[in-house]
Amino acid sequence: MKIENHVYDVLVVGAGGAGLNAAQVASQYVKTAVISEVYPTRSHTISAQGGISASLGNMEEDNWLWHMFDTVKGGDYLGDQDACEYMTKLAPSMIIELEHIGMPFNRTKEGKIAQRPFGGHTANFGERPVKRACYVADRTGHAMLQTLFEKSVAQGTQFYSEFYALELVVNNGTAVGVLCFDMKSGQLHMFHAKAIVLASGGNCRIFETNSNAHINTGDGVAMAMRAGFSWSDPEFFQFHPTGIYGHGNLITEAVRGEGGYLLNSKGERFMERYAPTIKDLAPRDIVSRCIGQEIIEGRGCGAKKDYINLKIDHMGHDAIMEKLPGIHELALVFAGVDCTKEFIPIVPTAHYQNGGISTNHFGDVITGKNGEYNTVVPGLYAAGECAASVHGANRLGTNSLLDLVVFGRTAGERAAKYAKENKITDLPENAGKEGMARLTKYANANGKYRFNDIYEKLTNTMQLNVGVFRTEELMKRAIADINELEGMLKDYRIDDRSTVYNLDLIEALEIDNMLMVAKTAAVAALARKESRGGHSREDYPERDDATYLKHTEASLNPDGSINIDYRPVRLTPLTVPSFPPKKRAY
Ligand SMILES: Cc1cc2nc3c(=O)[nH]c(=O)nc-3n(C[C@H](O)[C@H](O)[C@H](O)COP(=O)(O)OP(=O)(O)OC[C@H]3O[C@@H](n4cnc5c(N)ncnc54)[C@H](O)[C@@H]3O)c2cc1C
Repeated sequence: MKIENHVYDVLVVGAGGAGLNAAQVASQYVKTAVISEVYPTRSHTISAQGGISASLGNMEEDNWLWHMFDTVKGGDYLGDQDACEYMTKLAPSMIIELEHIGMPFNRTKEGKIAQRPFGGHTANFGERPVKRACYVADRTGHAMLQTLFEKSVAQGTQFYSEFYALELVVNNGTAVGVLCFDMKSGQLHMFHAKAIVLASGGNCRIFETNSNAHINTGDGVAMAMRAGFSWSDPEFFQFHPTGIYGHGNLITEAVRGEGGYLLNSKGERFMERYAPTIKDLAPRDIVSRCIGQEIIEGRGCGAKKDYINLKIDHMGHDAIMEKLPGIHELALVFAGVDCTKEFIPIVPTAHYQNGGISTNHFGDVITGKNGEYNTVVPGLYAAGECAASVHGANRLGTNSLLDLVVFGRTAGERAAKYAKENKITDLPENAGKEGMARLTKYANANGKYRFNDIYEKLTNTMQLNVGVFRTEELMKRAIADINELEGMLKDYRIDDRSTVYNLDLIEALEIDNMLMVAKTAAVAALARKESRGGHSREDYPERDDATYLKHTEASLNPDGSINIDYRPVRLTPLTVPSFPPKKRAY
């Protein structure tokens, strides 16, 4: 196969908020390119709704230490505290920077950036909810992605849209390139670079009910694992409490931040029972479990008693149309309800991958084995949803957009510095061989099973068996199902043999990645015999800090099976005293 070669100082994989912020920063110093499976402004960041957190204190007193405490506690103490401090301390300056490059935030009457409350964000170490989320109506991600895209274009970033990354190329432990496939023509491209930033987003498409875009198939973590690196905390997914019943599309937490609340079939505001202090604004893992509990105990709504109602009409027509216009539209289109007059039927929906490629608090990818993961991989960075560190076992709402800009910027800066100070490392002799082999295998796949035969079963078993509530028996069932599906993948078929825009082929590559990602998550979840954050086991209902206050590190064995190791949580912040694990209470 003929391969077209490109040489860059910095290559960014992914054009969501994390990738674009890394790119616009790196482009200020060195020659930078971005590759993306979709046109940049179609990345999932575009659909972020509710806001981006920062302790600006524009509406009431706030400070970064409270924000840091909430992030550590919300993550059930699995977040690395150096990263939590780094992110929350930088947050206010990041908002000002976004504002200066053109992000049109909502304003207060005095002209300050307006802020709204969000789940798990509190004043004075858990005392009361605080208004910390900056927002652009309920289209915050849209405004952010457009702003960052324009800035990257202005800085001269080179974009390769509809390029699909196949293989991360490593030479002697140094990241040196990425093999890509141009979806428009079928042409292969090798991007040879001094530094690479992985910003490929999440993977919640592996669940049947999810809020994610079609591209969120975990290609980045799968690619990193194939290249020999590990995935931190793969068992921790976030199930957002309010996905539209039957569809999974997100109804932002900002709805509850603005005064909306949940009701069971008896018309009871049940969150008052579970979390008397912050009620409907408890962290997402807690609210999702409470919804599950209400449904299990027979207080769900509708004929099948299998959803919960979200009430928002009391906000009034004008306030809804001003602050939550996108939600009004989503509820109308997907649930067929007018939320200015009717309840919105909701269920928890798989929303976010809490873990990711292992990094230190600067976004440098780290590697290791046998519990020691302190080796920085030269030239490799990860940022955004595909990277690990700050969110621990459960991410707080609005902390992801913040993570994108903070760690995207830091990774971009560090990649540019690394590129300036180092010569380019040669590509190894077999560069791209693994990716090309996989591509050829699927391009010629002439077997029995098609994408949907595998995808439907995969998402169904993940939803039922590795969902909001987990047990050993259920997770073993999921692993057995995935093993069977891996067998079916060996007998795969695509019908489209063309080289131009062959989505049949892309789906094959994605289902391959999704099976690996799902199996890694299920194996890691089975190994963690405790309940923490988004990982809730009925057979081990308590958090067990004595044994499991540690990150899972999952990697691939040479035979393709999953290796589970652990590394200590970084409990020492950069400058402040650490927050010791305490019992959960809200
Ligand atoms: C509906 C919804 C609402 C949300 N609301 C909020 C909110 O209000 N506040 C908040 O903080 N968070 C929110 N989140 C979470 C947040 O939006 C995401 O975590 C975040 O946007 C992810 O950004 P990212 O830059 O990491 O990746 P993404 O924006 O997902 O982008 C991934 C990029 O990687 C590229 N890519 C992937 N695979 C490949 C491949 N194989 N080859 C080439 N390119 C590839 C894609 O093309 C894309 O450009 C929301 C999420 C959803 C789903």
